Amino acid sequence: MRLPCPLCGDRDRREFYYQGAAVTLNRPAPEADADAWDAYLHLRDNPAGETRDLWYHEAGCGAWIMVTRNTLTHEVLGAELIEGVPA
Ligand SMILES: [Zn+2]
Repeated sequence: MRLPCPLCGDRDRREFYYQGAAVTLNRPAPEADADAWDAYLHLRDNPAGETRDLWYHEAGCGAWIMVTRNTLTHEVLGAELIEGVPA
C-alpha cells in the first residue's frame, strides 16, 4: 500500500507508523465525566467502508497525517496534514 504524504508525495506504507483511528483526535476535556473517558478510551467502531486513520511519516518528513481510505476496496482516497502530535 502506498500513502500520499502531503509533503513527500506517494510513499510505501512501511515508511509510516500507524497510530490508529482518527477518532483519537476527539479527546474529551480533562474535566469530562467518566462515561466520556470510558467511551474515548474503550469504545471503537469497526466500520466497513470509508475510514480515517492517523499515520506518522517516521522514515520521511516526520509529519502526522490523516489518511482517508476504504476498508472494503483498500483504496486510499486522500491524506491531509495534522497540526500537533496526537497523544
Ligand atoms: Zn512525508
